[in-house]
Amino acid sequence: MIRQGRAAARMGRIPPYLFAEIDRQVAARRAAGVDVISLDIGDPDIPTPEPVVAAAEAALRDPANHRYASYYGLPELRAAMAGWYRRRFGVELDPDREVLPTLGSKDGIAHLPIALIDPGDVVLAPDPGYPVYVTGAIMADGEPYRLPLRAQAGYLPDLSAIPHEVVRRARLLWLNYPNNPTAAVAPESFFAAAVAWCREHDVVLAHDAPYTETAFDGYRAPSLLQVAGAREIGIEFHSLSKTYDMTGWRVGMVCGNAELVRLLGQVKTNIDSGIFQVVQRAAIAALEEPAEQLAARNAVLHRRLVAVRDALAAVGIDVPLPRATFYLWGRVPDSYDSIGFAAAVLDQVGVNLTPGVGFGANGEGYFRVSVTAPDARVLEACERLRGLRL
Ligand SMILES: *Cc1c(COP(=O)(O)O)cnc(C)c1O
Repeated sequence: MIRQGRAAARMGRIPPYLFAEIDRQVAARRAAGVDVISLDIGDPDIPTPEPVVAAAEAALRDPANHRYASYYGLPELRAAMAGWYRRRFGVELDPDREVLPTLGSKDGIAHLPIALIDPGDVVLAPDPGYPVYVTGAIMADGEPYRLPLRAQAGYLPDLSAIPHEVVRRARLLWLNYPNNPTAAVAPESFFAAAVAWCREHDVVLAHDAPYTETAFDGYRAPSLLQVAGAREIGIEFHSLSKTYDMTGWRVGMVCGNAELVRLLGQVKTNIDSGIFQVVQRAAIAALEEPAEQLAARNAVLHRRLVAVRDALAAVGIDVPLPRATFYLWGRVPDSYDSIGFAAAVLDQVGVNLTPGVGFGANGEGYFRVSVTAPDARVLEACERLRGLRL
């Protein structure tokens, strides 16, 4: 037994991981016999594309792939990542200096502050937002400062509202569009303004962009790296998790400023020993997938989003349909706070949503639905939601 009080002081500032907690609560209900439909974590139910699985299967039989992988990833994988950026965004990257594969983007996001942050440095992170921006800062003994994302501002942070004293100590700014949890998108002009702000204040701009491909109705999300000057101060995290239904495989990438990529590589080579080469071979196959397949998967997600939007509207909860991401972000009914609403929905109809406050104080008053359950389950959830008594 570890004696009470032996944990590092920083552990008092690192909350239990939101979805690890939610998993436990849902598991407890299920153990009690409740048929819970999980519309909480953003974890696609759609299987990984067959050519990707086939590439992995073939690679698994080659003992060369059983050994330690090269630290910076197979050259073919970095080339495939650069090729994907060229085709998708028209951005040219040097695969040796401006691209680094990661163990999912969470790996890169959590570890970047180790490379950039000294004690007392400020990390600017959106609120509501993906929890790892804040916990990564804490683990590096940095000081997170949360930027409110408000509906009336399109869920874009107001950089001009950050106090001068905070700006002075800021080293790193996190952005994330298309956004989790609000499902908001950002125009390229917003990225241009953020780049200018970061260059003026000598702040590193890190854009977390796992949802650029999960988009509907012809919407094409921009890359930060399309903006002139972005590469002076910026990097962008991508992931194969959401785009190719590969959350369990753990593969993503960071691209952009060569010095930032090098620094993160220096941290990572001291922590992990690269990505299982079988997964790297699979990732190459994924990045070469024809675009129609992605469109077909997005059509499935969009149908589900519409179905849940309609079911909620039927009980008087109006949520906007997003242009990207597989989330609906809506206001809870007036008489509830966000945890109370999620609890009421779980109790009444056995559907688990995520309370907005789980993503930060500014998420209070909101809830998030993720449509990453199989069609039949989403439709069953819709039917149940129509029976809510609020
Ligand atoms: C899902 C997600 C990630 C990370 O996913 P990985 O599986 O680690 O690549 C990062 N940021 C946001 C905002 C996400 O929603």
